[in-house]
Amino acid sequence: MPVPRCSGPCGGVRPAALRRPRTGGAVCRSCFCNAFEAEVLSTLQTGRLLPPGAVVAVGASGGKDSTVLAHVLRALDARHGLALDLHLVAVDEGIGGYRDAALAAVRRQAGRWRLPLTVVAYADLFGGWTMDEVARRAAQEPGRARACCTFCGVLRRRALEEGAQRVGATHIVTGHNADDMAETVLMNFLRGDSGRLARGGTLGSPGEGGALPRCRPLQFASQKEIVLYAHFQELDYFSEECVYAPEAFRGHVRDLLKALEAARPSVVLDLVHSAERLALAPAARPPPPGACTRCGALSSRSLCQACALLDGLNRGRPRLAIGKGRKGLGEEGEKQSCTSKDSSGGPSRAGAIQAF
Ligand code: SF4
Repeated sequence: MPVPRCSGPCGGVRPAALRRPRTGGAVCRSCFCNAFEAEVLSTLQTGRLLPPGAVVAVGASGGKDSTVLAHVLRALDARHGLALDLHLVAVDEGIGGYRDAALAAVRRQAGRWRLPLTVVAYADLFGGWTMDEVARRAAQEPGRARACCTFCGVLRRRALEEGAQRVGATHIVTGHNADDMAETVLMNFLRGDSGRLARGGTLGSPGEGGALPRCRPLQFASQKEIVLYAHFQELDYFSEECVYAPEAFRGHVRDLLKALEAARPSVVLDLVHSAERLALAPAARPPPPGACTRCGALSSRSLCQACALLDGLNRGRPRLAIGKGRKGLGEEGEKQSCTSKDSSGGPSRAGAIQAF
């Protein structure tokens, strides 16, 4: 079958390189990359996510999502004069056999792009606790096994906030994509977590209680297109999966979503958009959060999730801190910008996705 000409703005000057998973249109590399960047710019502008002069901490994991996010923000900043001051902030959870290689990828990116890089480590922030130590302690506790991501998600959020505050950031951006968001919405439905459902659809959080505003400029970009963009731009990223990821509930939800997508291709974006429109009845709304009595972070209980978890760890009862009674607060509610195997339906690199 002959390769079709590009149906994009180049007017068919070049042969098509792929059929866009999002639109089905046959486009060349250049038209695809331009369209992808224009869509991210539209997300930024429509949501007024990053004002001119913003000091932006990019949550950098070395994985495809944060790599593409930093690359696109640099390109848009240079082309459209967004006046962004970009910093990479990476979190070292202390996961042997995984994070060191991912951090090496972040360091290469920082050097290539000449962006400042700050690395914050769990061990330094949380009294010597690394994720490997947390996992060991959690495994010693009797009772129902709980995936490590449940604990890690709580600490990662805090660590990224801390790193961003250190570099004087005014905003935090993370590489969550449409697939991540759809998984989160589905997970919250399956757990009956109405509080998170009510918060899950927005483009980010406004930064209440002293926390920095956060946003997700790739929220409407599919994982497949992110992999393709990284491939066409020849981006260097780390694609191994975290050693604790296979235990996560999110993996089951990802499989379910893939099966649903085979029957209804628009299901990912449908879920993202439906979450945007969800509103809780007044009686179901959680009370407005106050401040953690220990660290001052926003919390709907006297201790925030991170302080409660560290308390539990130090007392040898980590599960108590985020178990019953804290349901809906800290249960692996959001993919925490760690690298995870892409679920684009094939190998992690884009070669197998290209149509032509
Ligand atoms: Fe932490 Fe991510 Fe690994 Fe889960 S998959 S333990 S959230 S780094």
